[in-house]
Amino acid sequence: MMPQGLITISYIASMILFILSLGGLSNPETSRRGNFYGILAMTIAIVVTLLSPKVSSYSILIISLVIGGSIGLFAAIKVKMTEMPELVALMHSFVGLAASLVGFASFMDHETINQLTPTELAIHNFEIYIGIFIGLMTFSGSLIAFGKLSGKISGNPLLLPGRHLLNLGIVVLVVIFCILFTSSNLFEEQLNAIVIMSVLALLIGVHQVMAIGGADMPVVVSMLNSYSGWAASATGFMLSNDLLIVTGALVGSSGAILSYIMCKAMNRKFLSVISGGFGTNNNSKKTSSSTTNASTPVGEVTPITATETASLLINSKNVILIPGYGMAVAQAQHTVYEITKLLKEKNVNVKFAIHPVAGRMPGHMNVLLAEAKVPYDIVFEMEEINHEFTNTDVAMVIGANDIVNPAALDDPNSPIAGMPVLEVWKAKNSIVMKRSMASGYAGVDNPLFYKENNRMLFGDAKKMLDDILVQLKL
Ligand code: NDP
Repeated sequence: MMPQGLITISYIASMILFILSLGGLSNPETSRRGNFYGILAMTIAIVVTLLSPKVSSYSILIISLVIGGSIGLFAAIKVKMTEMPELVALMHSFVGLAASLVGFASFMDHETINQLTPTELAIHNFEIYIGIFIGLMTFSGSLIAFGKLSGKISGNPLLLPGRHLLNLGIVVLVVIFCILFTSSNLFEEQLNAIVIMSVLALLIGVHQVMAIGGADMPVVVSMLNSYSGWAASATGFMLSNDLLIVTGALVGSSGAILSYIMCKAMNRKFLSVISGGFGTNNNSKKTSSSTTNASTPVGEVTPITATETASLLINSKNVILIPGYGMAVAQAQHTVYEITKLLKEKNVNVKFAIHPVAGRMPGHMNVLLAEAKVPYDIVFEMEEINHEFTNTDVAMVIGANDIVNPAALDDPNSPIAGMPVLEVWKAKNSIVMKRSMASGYAGVDNPLFYKENNRMLFGDAKKMLDDILVQLKL
C-alpha cells in the first residue's frame, strides 16, 4: 500500500504532466512530446490508484483492465484513419456510461452514505445526480454522433416543432427531480427520481445531437468531447478523487474552447450551440439539402487529365494544395508530399491550405500531413492563406468539397451560408480532384465545379496523384 502523502504527490505530478500534455498537443511540432507526457501521466494515475488503500481487491480490477485494455488495443489497431472520428465519438460515449455507472454504484453504496452527515449527504446526492445526468446525456448524444459520423443515421437535422420548448421542459423536469432526489431520505422516492431523470438525460442527449445538421457536426464532436470531460470530473467528485476532477475539468474546458474555435470557423453562435438549439444557420431557417431553397448550379464542368494537370503544375510559380476528406479516404497524403518535393525541386512554390473543419475531426488534415512528414512551415490555416489565392497559379483541391464551396459566401439560402471557405476560385486555375459530381458531407451542390477557371480531375485521389507523379518524373 502506498502512503497517502506519496499518492497526493504522485497525483500532483500526474496533473502537471496532463497540463504539459495539453500544451504539447496544441502545436504539431510538439505534439509527440505532448502525447508522451499524456501517456506518462495516465500511467502514473493508474499505477498510483491501483496501489492506493481504497483498492481492496485486485481480481475484478485485473479482469476489467484486461477486457477494457484488449478492446481498446483491438480498436486502435483495427481502426482505419477514416473511421477515427466515429471511434472517438464511441469512446466519448464510454466515458459518459462509466460516469453514470459510478453514479448508480455510489447511490447504492449505503456503507459510505450511512457515514455522512446530513449536509455531506445532500452534497453527495447532488454529485451523484449531476454525474448520472451528464454521463447519460454524453452517452446517448455520443452514440447518435457515432451513427451520424459513420453514416448509419442520416446527417440531416431533425427539427421537431417546438424543440427549444421541449429542451427547456426537460431541463425544468430534471431540476425538479434533482430537488426531490437531494431532499428525500426514502430510497424508493430517490430511486424513482433518478430513474426518471435518467430517461430524460438519455432523451436530451439524443435530441440535442439529432437536431444538428450535417455541416455543423464538427461543433458537436468537440462539444461531446467537452461533455465527456465534465462527466469524468463529476465522477471525480463522486469518488473524492482530485486527479479525476482536475483531469476531467481540463478535458471539459479544452473541449469547450475547441467548440468555440469550431463555432468561429463555422460562423455559428456559441451560446446557441451550448443550448443545443442550433441546426439552422444565421441566414437561413432551412438546413437540410432536401428542404433548402439554395440555388442549383448550372452550366457544364470541364474535365482535365492527370497529364494536363502535371504540366499545369510544373509551369506554375505558386501552387496551393487543399486537402479534404477525400484525401483521407484515398490515403493519398504520401503521394501528395512526393509531388510537393518534386515541384519544390523544380522551383515551384508549394503551400498547403487547411480549413478548420476539413475532414471528419478537428485537426484531421494536420494529422495526415504530419504522418506523411510534410514540413509544418508550408502548412497554413485558412485565415493565414486565404488572401494568397489571387497570386496563385494553381489551387489543387484534393478530395475536398464543402470547404471550397463558394455558395457559402454567395448564396444566402445555402445550408452552409456564412461559413468561411477557402476561396480557391480566386486562383488563376483551380483543379478539383474527386471521383464524381457527388456532394460533400453537408449534401450541398458546389458551384465551384462549374466556374470557367475550374477543371475537374475525376478519379480516386491516390490513383490520380500517382499518375501526376509519374508525369512529373518524366
Ligand atoms: P466533404 O465531405 O465536403 O467532401 C469530400 C469529397 O471527397 C467528396 O465530395 C467526395 O466526392 C471526395 N472523395 C471521397 N473519396 C474520395 C477519393 N477516394 N478520391 C477522391 N475524392 C474522394 O469534405 P471536406 O473535407 O471538404 O469538408 C468536411 C465536411 O465534413 C464539412 O461539411 C464539415 O462540416 C464536415 N465534418 C467535419 C468534421 C470535423 O471535425 N472536421 C466532423 C464532422 C463533419 P466523390 O464521392 O465524388 O469522390
